[in-house]
Amino acid sequence: MIVATHWHDDHIRGLGRLVEVCKSAKFCCAKTLLNVEFIAFVTQMATGSVATHGAKLREFSKIFKALQQNGRTAKYASGSRILMSWLLADNEKNGSCRLLSLSPSDRDFELFTQMIVDMQPKPNSPKRSASSRNENLNSVVLHLSLADCSILLGADMEVHHEQERGWNSVLTEAANSTVTPSSIYKVAHHGSVTGHHEEIWSALLHPRPICLVTPFNRLPESKKLPTEVDIDRLLGKGRLILTSPRSSKKSKQRDPAVVRSLRESQIVIRELTSAIGMTRLRRKANSVQHWNLEIFPPAQELISSPK
Ligand SMILES: [Zn+2]
Repeated sequence: MIVATHWHDDHIRGLGRLVEVCKSAKFCCAKTLLNVEFIAFVTQMATGSVATHGAKLREFSKIFKALQQNGRTAKYASGSRILMSWLLADNEKNGSCRLLSLSPSDRDFELFTQMIVDMQPKPNSPKRSASSRNENLNSVVLHLSLADCSILLGADMEVHHEQERGWNSVLTEAANSTVTPSSIYKVAHHGSVTGHHEEIWSALLHPRPICLVTPFNRLPESKKLPTEVDIDRLLGKGRLILTSPRSSKKSKQRDPAVVRSLRESQIVIRELTSAIGMTRLRRKANSVQHWNLEIFPPAQELISSPK
């Protein structure tokens, strides 16, 4: 199953191609993402002064087309929805597996839909870009139970003070569905404090779980995620693996002649985003084995706080 957790570029880029190639894979996203109003909204936002959504639109139409071509229907995630369940072939007694979505909450879904209606460009008024906070609260948090172990995938979910929104709602849904504590956690929102809820660690996770963080390097240095404070907090919670290094400030050294001619030709050079690593976790179901963790550089495990 391929899941579009939410519609931000850093989570959906390349997804259209993936859905095309993996012909028998199921596809899942939040209810809002493939509905007519949303596509119309993205289309309208894809032109003119705030044309930042063109790439997204391309991904969505690719996904749409690929699904239609071989008669697949999207599964729509929401709180406590079983997206898939199956049995381990060789062990039917203790081998039940289940993929459960824990969000978006009804309240967040309602507010997101309302936002789309409000944001539709109106005649003679400028387009505004959508609030990204609202979008993160609509991301799909997943709980995957595989026989005797569980994995929590936190997407970009954030904390909201209302009980029916964000992590508060996820925690309620998880309690209602009696999910088992997970030993692996894909840390929410790139390790940011806005995705940190203390109860995630006490109610949804085993002590000292394996924490996987995907850094977000596209913001200015001061806003890159995770911050050093985030890293310290996460090291206090479990084993911490970053899928790529936090990019450093140091830019590439070039020959002075090259620098000069670039300047004279008014060419501005921008560093590409850092390379992406990978982590792989394997374990035999129903065994006493621990997870076998493989880290492919530049992914790295952080051992102590980088000071
Ligand atoms: Zn993100």
